[in-house]
Amino acid sequence: MFDVARTELSDKRALAAALAEADVAPMLMVLVHLTGEERWLDEIGPHIFGAWNFMEQTPEDKKARLRARLATVLQEVASGERRVPEVPPRALLSRMMSMGVGGTVPPEYIPLILEEMNLADGDPRTVRWREKPAPEALARLKVLIVGAGLSGLCMAMKLKEAGIDFDIVEKNDTVGGTWYENDYPGCGVDTPNHFFSFSFAPNHDWPDHFSKRNELWRYLEECADTYDLRRHIRFETEMVSAQWDESAKLWRCRLKPKEGAEETVETAVLITAVGQLNRPFIPDLEGLAEFKGAAFHTGKWDRSVDLAGKRVAMIGTGASGMQAGPSIAGTVGKLTVFQRTPHWSIHNPNYHARVSDGVKWALKYIPFYSQWYRFQLFWASADGLHASLQVDPSWPTPGLSLNADNQRFRDMLVAHMTKELEGDAALLKKVVPQYPPYGKRMLRDNHWFRMLKRSNVELVTERIARVEPDAIVTADGTRHPADVIVFATGFQAGRMLWPMEIAGRGGLTVREAWGDDDPRAHLGMTAPGFPNLFMLYGPNTNLGHGGSIIFHTECQVRYIMQALREMAEKRLSSLECRVEPHDAYNERVDAAHRNMVWAHGGVGNWYKNARGRVIANSPWRLVDYWAMTKEFKLGDFEPSTRS
Ligand code: NAP
Repeated sequence: MFDVARTELSDKRALAAALAEADVAPMLMVLVHLTGEERWLDEIGPHIFGAWNFMEQTPEDKKARLRARLATVLQEVASGERRVPEVPPRALLSRMMSMGVGGTVPPEYIPLILEEMNLADGDPRTVRWREKPAPEALARLKVLIVGAGLSGLCMAMKLKEAGIDFDIVEKNDTVGGTWYENDYPGCGVDTPNHFFSFSFAPNHDWPDHFSKRNELWRYLEECADTYDLRRHIRFETEMVSAQWDESAKLWRCRLKPKEGAEETVETAVLITAVGQLNRPFIPDLEGLAEFKGAAFHTGKWDRSVDLAGKRVAMIGTGASGMQAGPSIAGTVGKLTVFQRTPHWSIHNPNYHARVSDGVKWALKYIPFYSQWYRFQLFWASADGLHASLQVDPSWPTPGLSLNADNQRFRDMLVAHMTKELEGDAALLKKVVPQYPPYGKRMLRDNHWFRMLKRSNVELVTERIARVEPDAIVTADGTRHPADVIVFATGFQAGRMLWPMEIAGRGGLTVREAWGDDDPRAHLGMTAPGFPNLFMLYGPNTNLGHGGSIIFHTECQVRYIMQALREMAEKRLSSLECRVEPHDAYNERVDAAHRNMVWAHGGVGNWYKNARGRVIANSPWRLVDYWAMTKEFKLGDFEPSTRS
């Protein structure tokens, strides 16, 4: 039953203040949800043009009527006069969803969205026992998770709920993974937080719509504490290798603590949760070893180096550079940005906006407000663009865009750059990418173009030839003096699971199976030859068109929990993915990628390997991957039963 905050809702003044700041679409949804008064959809719906809160133009008098009616209804809820219905009837729900985002929400999305909104008590993605396994069957199901970042914590929370025993090894001294390690100035998330958080663990106190690293890290710390996970974690310990013992049906894992002796532990199930973007990449530049100033990667920012007044050279203009550059430009003496390839970036009016107190109050106390707000953001970030990221073979300018929609998008992005650069033709020539939007990861403009207009910032597009003790020299012979080098040069994404040495059945290692950069897995999670090994954020699970990696993680965790349920309930000692479904899945993945923008020949990105095969990204819409992973199929596996 939905828990109503009666005391808070009875406070008329606080309620009025919150409604004055709350967003129109979620208010409308809450009102219709609570009352079934469909006429409000007719009155307000036509003024909503999109899923973001800035895509509505409701006249003030209509907004006032909406607020007044909602205030009355919420008072009735507070006093207990009005019952709170859990889920509106399906036909109404469907209409609400479409009106609420100013578009059409097809029926296939409704079950997914209902899960994502989590309207009733309890997580609808939780996998429940069909028959509670005997204690000894549960005890044999011991799990080891590698990594206490976002996906490892999600897995651990669900294992804990199910009563399955687990340990986590974590190389850092605390939880958070990427949101702990990346501590460069300006580090934050590009997906709106009220969606970029676990669907079953909402946070109504995000300070920003797109919060910064400290807030994200704090959120993950709180999740670890709420679920009492720390006592399961061995911090400052790396899993260096794991070997499958076919006769004993278990993994032997070698753990290397920061201090002390290595140790081997046994586990029935091994789950890797190490991310794709965990091991920094630093280019092998001639002369780098002789550089006499500080030089560090964004993923390992050296906070002891004071940048004030220094000449800083930043190499790389991807998502990390986009956030770090503008964040340090006002402090440093000179910032020289070395750009090899320009990136596309999009403007979002909420990117630098704070969440108002009224909205936080609404998220906390108004029934269903946070759920409808999450729905809005989900839809804004979901599959809307997917179809436009496919090549139209008849499109006349395939180097620059893929199709008419992609070209329109391109025009919009160029218009934004032109405005921000005040028409500066020389800079525009350098920063407008000569490949279609989304060919590389789409960035959010963090005042990048305004930064380029600063007098102490220089954008260099010449190739770097070498590093000298106090400068970077470009191919044209120009010396660019530097006291500090910042490598915003990305990660070794293709070498998934590296540097761990994982040897499966018959001693086959992951590197032998995948080579240096050709990882493959069934549904991104499991591979033949590696029984009882599951991967979170594995091959072809990164999202390039939208969505949130947390959504994908929750899909994967549910799938793995179902696999474990099969093992416990059917007393299986191992599950090994069969070759046929694995290969067929990967063929489908490759075929689906063929026409997609990130496979475009005219651009390099970390999604592809050296041979151009897309290994990081998923080609699927969110709803496709959700459907594929919703029900675990035992038939895709070779099970072994305990004798
Ligand atoms: P990245 O996107 O891989 O960007 C690396 C940059 O370094 C590129 O501009 C690349 O140029 C350049 N580079 C690499 N080697 C170079 C060389 N030898 N000489 C000159 N330039 C070189 O890395 P990232 O910015 O760290 O981002 C990686 C991913 O992390 C993102 O795509 C995103 O998924 C995630 N991330 C997300 C956020 C966020 O949510 N806000 C923030 C940071 C990171 P080319 O383009 O020419 O290769």
